Amino acid sequence: MLSYRHSFHAGNHADVVKHIVQSLILDALKQKDKPFVYHDTHSGVGRYDLQDERSEKTGEFKQGIARIWQRDDIPAEIASYIDAIKVLNDGDELRYYPGSPKVARAQIRDQDRMVLTELHPSDFPLLLQEFRGDRQVRIYKEDAFARLKGSLPPKERRGVVLIDPPYELKHEYMDVVKAIKESHKRWATGTYAIWYPVVYRENIDKMLKGLEDLGIRKILQIELGVEPDTEERGMTASGMIVINPPWKLESQMQAILPWLKEAIAPNHGHYKVEWIVPE
Ligand code: SAM
Repeated sequence: MLSYRHSFHAGNHADVVKHIVQSLILDALKQKDKPFVYHDTHSGVGRYDLQDERSEKTGEFKQGIARIWQRDDIPAEIASYIDAIKVLNDGDELRYYPGSPKVARAQIRDQDRMVLTELHPSDFPLLLQEFRGDRQVRIYKEDAFARLKGSLPPKERRGVVLIDPPYELKHEYMDVVKAIKESHKRWATGTYAIWYPVVYRENIDKMLKGLEDLGIRKILQIELGVEPDTEERGMTASGMIVINPPWKLESQMQAILPWLKEAIAPNHGHYKVEWIVPE
């Protein structure tokens, strides 16, 4: 089933948290000259027009990127992320939002490369078009986890895998656990960044327990909520589970999240940065 279209949600509070974490991981990888790979398992289209009918319909970016991108008190830690937005937008109008592949493309160097997978019949050609002629980017219309399995370990032995499924079906939570199990066997030292939505908290608790039971060390959870948990349908929070995070990520997010909460959800917001499994 491929009914999910990210264009309804581009630039919302969940994208902001996800892409900040992603860009901090890439900043950390760039501390060394050695090449790295950025592998994006669920890529979307790469760039979103916030004036298209889907974005306009939900207006989700208004409680996300629109609240922060032009503030004058932006924490220094998120400079790379904000730059990725500014290069797509001339001047003061927020028209385009970079998806995860464009955030990454704004950061990688000549020696680095990207692997992208996207299966949606309408989104795949848009993604292809976005990176046409770019020799550092390989794009596959293949299943996310099948391609991941075939790509690990990467020849560089350094890099990050972003795992960002739509979670439309309940089994997708445990599919992620299975993919991590397989991937970690092939490449134990890679950084894995898994995005998750909090719609029903129990799905996340199960996924976290599944990851914990794999016996893998160094699993960090980062979360920003805009509303308290509820049994009603709807995303109230989202976060990232990062396996093998760069050492500064925990303290960077501890510094950023209070600011982000105040900017995006001052009344009902909450956040956390917690080790699910420490070193
Ligand atoms: N990572 C993107 C970003 O941050 O800009 C957003 C990705 S969106 C949440 C999830 C994407 O996964 C959708 O575009 C969907 O078409 C794609 N998708 C769903 N199932 C897939 C699969 N089995 N393999 C590859 N892509 C898949």
